[in-house]
Amino acid sequence: MLDRYGRNIDYLRISVTDRCNLRCRYCMPEGVELVPMQEILTYEEIREICAAAAKLGVRKLKVTGGEPLVRRGCAELIRMLKTVPGIEQVTLTTNGVLLGKYLPELLDAGLDAANVSLDTLDRERYAAITGQDALGAVLESVDAALASGLRLKLNAVLQKGVNDDEWFALASLARDRALDVRFIELMPIGAGKGIRGVANTELRAELLRRYPELEEDAAVRGNGPAVYVRVPGWKGGVGFISAMHGKFCDRCNRLRLTAQGRLKPCLCYGDAVDLMPLLRGGAHGTEREALLCQALEDAVASKPAQHCFEAPERVTETARMADIGG
Ligand code: SAM
Ligand code: SF4
Repeated sequence: MLDRYGRNIDYLRISVTDRCNLRCRYCMPEGVELVPMQEILTYEEIREICAAAAKLGVRKLKVTGGEPLVRRGCAELIRMLKTVPGIEQVTLTTNGVLLGKYLPELLDAGLDAANVSLDTLDRERYAAITGQDALGAVLESVDAALASGLRLKLNAVLQKGVNDDEWFALASLARDRALDVRFIELMPIGAGKGIRGVANTELRAELLRRYPELEEDAAVRGNGPAVYVRVPGWKGGVGFISAMHGKFCDRCNRLRLTAQGRLKPCLCYGDAVDLMPLLRGGAHGTEREALLCQALEDAVASKPAQHCFEAPERVTETARMADIGG
């Protein structure tokens, strides 16, 4: 699907649940209200939406959340999505706590790759950032996933004065492991508003100072906006997703589907096409499919040229990142 700025939209991110087993302070702090399960898309509804999206040219799906692995049967959803005609790749974004446990099922379902979010390598700090003493489980999951041969990326969000001193230790995970480590700039969405992040430009400059032989890695990996560098001798790459200090909207290729069935043209704005009335309104068969396709086309047609994170007062999205899926 081409939008009005000529961008090809071939990627859909799907938040399958608003629930999570962690409480990252910039995403889903303690005390948040959860949505009743009947207001959350069923797996069959998600499959239907993906089938319509695939008809229109979507080729890649990302299963995210909340924490997707806390929803029962997540591997079965991935198996269903892998059989949707036209879909070439289904990947997962997870905090990794349950990844080790479900890895055999996920691999059997055909999962193509996983991103694991990891902001610190310090056990106490992990508990302070996420509300759970779960670093050990995440590191075990990472090892198990690597050993299985699953393609893996680690995503880190740095907060000023909280974990920014660990950026090099985190980046160095790519030295001896065949995985990419990516730094995602903190965005002023939901609980992230008002928390100070770190500019990727600083990290990149510091990495270049330490490794003057640093190489830009032009190979496109995965679905989107990360820019990679390669430190000669390291097994994996280091990536930067720089929504705040390196706008990549001209390359935007995605729609987002929230757990409650809102189809979001852009992360930054509250505008969305609500699929729930359509899905639960009684339309069947070809009429239902046509309505879904029209809704997807409407969402693509209303994609804005760019986000406005540089002016947080103009950000109109009020949902939490855990509802949107990141
Ligand atoms: N629970 C899964 C996980 O943590 O990977 C998937 C959902 S989580 C919302 C997806 C990603 O969004 C995580 O890497 C998380 O660090 C990131 N994230 C959450 N809030 C953010 C914010 N305000 N700015 C930037 N990234 C954020
Ligand atoms: Fe949960 Fe992921 Fe949000 Fe952390 S970033 S609270 S793990 S959804």
